[in-house]
Amino acid sequence: MKISRRQMLASTALAGLFSPFASVLSQQKAAPWRNWSGGQVCYPSGRFSPASETELQDFLRRTSGEIRPVGSGHSFSALVPTDGHLIVIDQLSGLLDHDAQTLQATFGAGTRLGDMGEPLARIGQAMLNLPDIDRQTLAGATATATHGTGIAFTCLSGFVTSLRLVTPDGDVIDTSPTSNSDLFDAARVSLGALGIVTQMTLQNRAPYKLKARNWVQPIEEVLETFDESAANHRHFEMFPLTHSDYALVLAIDETDEDINNPPPSPEDEAAFAQAMAFWATLPAKERFAEINAMARQIGPTEAVDESYRILSNIRNGRFNEMEYSVPAEAGADCLREILRTVIEKEVDVVFPLEYRYVKRDDTWLSMSAGDYDHAAISIHRMASEDYRPYFDLIEPIFWKYGGRPHWGKVHSLDKARLEQLYPRFKDFQMLQAELDPAGRLLNPHLKKLLVG
Ligand SMILES: Cc1cc2nc3c(=O)[nH]c(=O)nc-3n(C[C@H](O)[C@H](O)[C@H](O)COP(=O)(O)OP(=O)(O)OC[C@H]3O[C@@H](n4cnc5c(N)ncnc54)[C@H](O)[C@@H]3O)c2cc1C
Repeated sequence: MKISRRQMLASTALAGLFSPFASVLSQQKAAPWRNWSGGQVCYPSGRFSPASETELQDFLRRTSGEIRPVGSGHSFSALVPTDGHLIVIDQLSGLLDHDAQTLQATFGAGTRLGDMGEPLARIGQAMLNLPDIDRQTLAGATATATHGTGIAFTCLSGFVTSLRLVTPDGDVIDTSPTSNSDLFDAARVSLGALGIVTQMTLQNRAPYKLKARNWVQPIEEVLETFDESAANHRHFEMFPLTHSDYALVLAIDETDEDINNPPPSPEDEAAFAQAMAFWATLPAKERFAEINAMARQIGPTEAVDESYRILSNIRNGRFNEMEYSVPAEAGADCLREILRTVIEKEVDVVFPLEYRYVKRDDTWLSMSAGDYDHAAISIHRMASEDYRPYFDLIEPIFWKYGGRPHWGKVHSLDKARLEQLYPRFKDFQMLQAELDPAGRLLNPHLKKLLVG
């Protein structure tokens, strides 16, 4: 059986068809909102979807009470849930402007990342990098410092060259490195706590094709040469299998080769889903040998396509995720300790981890902000399972290695802990209070992060 990394990861979540809230929802009057994984749910008193910035300004000026901007609901953490109004900016989307000289393009902030590739190609541009999936909105993705893979690439917020924000009082502020520059550095990773972002300009490049190669290799071997591989490939990452010596490895490089990107085979996906279900039934010790044997059968695969069709994937099923970014030089040891702990504590998880490098940037609150590059390490659990015991066990390991939690993923840190991790955290809090004196944007989760 030949299974590609894409097929394997898509299948890992097949079992996650999840609707735990169905009975609760039927008893509620307000239409419920829930996030992609189903782990976050709320009953907002209303939803407002402005067709223009002016409509948004009017709404903000004539209302009071809590508001939360929402993108496509792909965050695992409780950034969005509110009893007040959700601000949905789907209508503020699409390509608004572009500059053929600088290769910059302006989009409505509600544009899905996956809807940007083709319009950009038509104007001779392409995004520098993309995350693992592309269903997020531009505003939502940048608000949490969403990143892809690659030591040469910052998170998406680092590609932003200017952005427009509407404050909770309805004022419009344009920011860039030369205009309201402090706000620019804060608002590129805003947690949705500074106002409603309505448009963003991104630095792009000329269109390009990429070749993705996947293979299976022992985790230790990959770690030994990880820095070299990360430097030699445009994108390089691995997905270590739990209870195993092996990882799925992915390298992506630019190419002039012809496009050849066959869709994943449903038979292989089904076969892997079956194997996953079987592993889950095994005692932890037997699982190790079984998964190693299976990993050794996974054959290498290749795909060539336009950059935006290679960089992101489709995830068929639902899961919850915790991700911390640790200094790159501590990444390997942190990963080893997590994998060892999963085995020693016999955690019954069969979902691969994800291990990738992200370049440092100059925003205030990106997980990679500062003077060194980071290794982003993710752990996952299917949405149908209780993720708490596993995440609670692993989270202190991330802390030990100086980790910063991904804002959009599950974590338990509060203001006191976060202040120690970000030199500009207090500046962010002050700016938040200045722009939002009534605290309209602060839901309970953001109060825990920013107010204490
Ligand atoms: C399957 C899956 C794969 C993922 N892969 C990656 C990955 O590869 N790399 C990575 O880094 N992350 C990844 N993530 C996490 C995801 O990219 C982030 O959580 C992202 O923030 C979600 O974007 P969204 O559009 O769904 O925004 P939401 O989750 O809806 O909102 C996120 C934040 O953005 C704010 N926001 C939304 N719109 C606006 C606006 N107009 N103005 C101001 N604030 C706004 C919200 O208030 C909230 O604080 C993944 C998530 C999933 C479910």
